[in-house]
Amino acid sequence: MLITVLTLFPEMFPGALAHSLPGKSLGKLWELRVINIRDFATDKHKTVDDTPYGGGAGMVMKPDVVDEALRYAISLYADVPEIIYMTPRGKTFKQSTAKELSGNKAGMIILCGRYEGIDQRVIDYWKTNHSMREISIGDYVLFGGEVPAMVVIEACLRFNSGIMNNENSVEDESFANGLLEYPHYTRPALWNNIEVPEVLLSGNHKDIANWRLEQAEKITQELRPDLWTKYNRT
Ligand code: SAM
Repeated sequence: MLITVLTLFPEMFPGALAHSLPGKSLGKLWELRVINIRDFATDKHKTVDDTPYGGGAGMVMKPDVVDEALRYAISLYADVPEIIYMTPRGKTFKQSTAKELSGNKAGMIILCGRYEGIDQRVIDYWKTNHSMREISIGDYVLFGGEVPAMVVIEACLRFNSGIMNNENSVEDESFANGLLEYPHYTRPALWNNIEVPEVLLSGNHKDIANWRLEQAEKITQELRPDLWTKYNRT
């Protein structure tokens, strides 16, 4: 899978993605290409932004520069990748989005904004003509799309069974079946005078599976009533 990131701060990558399982498999099971949007500016000052029409604070990323960067990125793919613009006003990123995006074996292109964001015309053009998606990682505003892009990439890589040590773990995790995950315990069996739940020491796989499901349901009901309502409905 080839993941291309378009950013004004290419030195931020691979960043967190260079560590642990994503890092170990980088260059083997997935490729990361980082493109500096500034390389597509045409004037001698390499200008990538300008003041907003209508006035107001901040700067806006120029449509011509972003369009050239996107055109170059897509030209490097033989098959059609997912194209994503990270933006607070996008659809909220979920585990189901990660699963869907990771299903595209061609990979993805992720466009990171900065400043006040990107000129609306280039966003509309790429949404209409290249099915670009707008994705948000939550209802808050960050300085740029780079950290959100890393969030999306990490979540998608977890659906690559080659990258994960244990293929089952994604299926077992929070959100996979609409529930939060059951609690985990490890040695020592007695810590701070608190024992590990007895059933986990029993060796009875059926009882353990039942206990884990009960716990997942209880935790979801307590912590995420929104998920619990949906789970009950289905
Ligand atoms: N003026 C924009 C607004 O009010 O919606 C915020 C722009 S933000 C300072 C600059 C860039 O950071 C955005 O273009 C986007 O790429 C990225 N960004 C910030 N918060 C984000 C979020 N919650 N999810 C995804 N991307 C985000």
